[in-house]
Amino acid sequence: MFSLMASCCGWFKRWREPVRKVTLLMVGLDNAGKTATAKGIQGEYPEDVAPTVGFSKINLRQGKFEVTIFDLGGGIRIRGIWKNYYAESYGVIFVVDSSDEERMEETKEAMSEMLRHPRISGKPILVLANKQDKEGALGEADVIECLSLEKLVNEHKCLCQIEPCSAISGYGKKIDKSIKKGLFWLLHVIARDFDALNERIQKDTTEQRALEEQEKQERAERVRKLREERKQNEQEQAELDGTGSLAQLDPEPTNPFQPIASVIIENERKLEREKKKQKMEKDSDGCHLKHKMEHEQIETEGQVNDSGQKNNEFGLVENYKEALTQQLENEDETDRPSLESDFYGKPLPPLAVPQRPNGDAHDVIS
Ligand code: GDP
Repeated sequence: MFSLMASCCGWFKRWREPVRKVTLLMVGLDNAGKTATAKGIQGEYPEDVAPTVGFSKINLRQGKFEVTIFDLGGGIRIRGIWKNYYAESYGVIFVVDSSDEERMEETKEAMSEMLRHPRISGKPILVLANKQDKEGALGEADVIECLSLEKLVNEHKCLCQIEPCSAISGYGKKIDKSIKKGLFWLLHVIARDFDALNERIQKDTTEQRALEEQEKQERAERVRKLREERKQNEQEQAELDGTGSLAQLDPEPTNPFQPIASVIIENERKLEREKKKQKMEKDSDGCHLKHKMEHEQIETEGQVNDSGQKNNEFGLVENYKEALTQQLENEDETDRPSLESDFYGKPLPPLAVPQRPNGDAHDVIS
């Protein structure tokens, strides 16, 4: 009777526990098998996956945990983005290609750099020694030795577990048992230390957001100054060339996102203004008669000479093409998943990724 009551109380306590949202980071060199692992966890067939170029995320439900795993690209040029996710990560899944002995040193460097980061040191890390199905793949002990794993994790006070596995051996409920075991271990140590970890993550995330906001403002300020300098230089150059101020012709900086129709209209207006300006200059030079004749000739040609008309249309088409190309280029720039925050401050993938509703996450590893 007593044990029945105790188990009821335990069940009631667990039922009342709030859902905990946990973010994990899945990293490793390119081709290590991160995407295959992520797909397998998600319940998708993990073979023939394309290597992670940017980043993707998966959601799963595990008991009282709503887990989001960020699968980040591991190519040398995009490893720089990893650190943008450190603040919000409760733990790390580091995938190693155990069959690629030649890249063990590179793997060690990438891991070492990550573990020494102040926003990762002290957090739990699961190492998946992947591709065990491949002939000649290094076993657990060899991977530990090649990566100097013990030394690394001790130095940075990270709890660590290594699991030799094969990401392509199964998926969903039939996923490699070692991957499942590793994930359980990771969530278990996170649960044990949840409050402290959570406090650290809230603090680090707030600080990082503030820093990013400051950097964004600084970049915007630098861009503004550069624009001003450029405009100033153009004006000075125009005055030196005796062509007048360019700013008079185009006083507003061009908005790269204005509709194409307005770009065309604006270009036509510019042409019109230039024509008028030329006319006035010629008039004031006392060449009125000559100009009038020329003007009349142009007008006549415009009416009767098809090639004259075509030239005009051609100019317009060129402008349109130019505007369209410019627009597409700009849209391209904006749409492209931004991997690195560059000088113009293209946004990094958001730090606080909205969680999908509960229904989206699935309990695949239970
Ligand atoms: P990522 O760049 O780390 O995301 O690597 P992928 O998951 O894209 O995997 C790279 C290649 O390795 C793909 O062709 C996968 O099919 C293959 N691969 C991934 N895991 C394994 C594994 O455990 N065994 C074998 N033999 N191939 C794997």
